[in-house]
Amino acid sequence: MSKVWIGIDKSRSYRVYLTITTDMVEEARKIHMTTPLATAGLGRVLTGAGLMGIMLKNESDRLTVQFKGDGPAKQILATADGKGNVKGYIANPDVDLPLTDKGKLDVGGSLGIGDLTVIKDLGLKEPYMGTIALVSGEIAEDLTAYFFISEQQNTSVALGVKIERDYHVGAAGGMIIQMLPDAKEASVDALEAMLADLPPITTLIDQVTGSGAGKSQSGLLRDLAEAVFGRMPEEYQLEGLDEREIRWNCDCSEKRLSQALMTIGKKDLTEIIEEDGQAELQCQFCLKKYHFDKERLEKILEDIS
Ligand SMILES: [Zn+2]
Repeated sequence: MSKVWIGIDKSRSYRVYLTITTDMVEEARKIHMTTPLATAGLGRVLTGAGLMGIMLKNESDRLTVQFKGDGPAKQILATADGKGNVKGYIANPDVDLPLTDKGKLDVGGSLGIGDLTVIKDLGLKEPYMGTIALVSGEIAEDLTAYFFISEQQNTSVALGVKIERDYHVGAAGGMIIQMLPDAKEASVDALEAMLADLPPITTLIDQVTGSGAGKSQSGLLRDLAEAVFGRMPEEYQLEGLDEREIRWNCDCSEKRLSQALMTIGKKDLTEIIEEDGQAELQCQFCLKKYHFDKERLEKILEDIS
């Protein structure tokens, strides 16, 4: 479970969503046995999707964030809902590339040229869908562009995953700064100036967790908010607004996977029954396997007919 701290500045110019997701990203790494590069990409997408889920109006709303490119990672996808449930996967968990010139994990290179699609199911007849071309494939920059282009919202997204030498997740987290409709123009300039000098978010998380041993997650998040926004002028200092939670949670079930079997069609399903006499399906999010014996498959076939 990762807390999400939500704050608003004194002048009501911007709202902030802030989280430390070290445990959640480590859990995803263990399930998907990802390489450091894959952990960084997946961890950033999970953290970003989790924060975007919390930004949804209703708890029953859900969204899918899909990064697709011609690079070796192929695809990174995460879904999140308004209750804070998050799950995701990377198509190629073994992806590995040399570090960039700056010595960083090359998440952008692993995705290559491609696009970002966000699908929001807000309980309306049709889901909302927005697609943009990837800016850099570094995830945070792409999400910032998505908000601007597809939702006409001025936001700034920062995401980070630090991998330790033994490949486990040392620190992960993110923040979304959302400009409000009545934002003072000077607040935009002040934020830009502050962000230009800001160390990577994982460095700041390391600092607050290092000095805040024994502190609660809420306490650490307040320290993190102070480490970032304490740099802002007095009139744009933050006030706490709310606290929420996000967590890794896969809600797959035999019923859900049998619905997937229904969509493959009568002909293919008949073929599986005759040739294999059984089927095994795996949830792509949590990798749990579901076994369908002949009798169960015949029942599904009957249901389609
Ligand atoms: Zn699952």
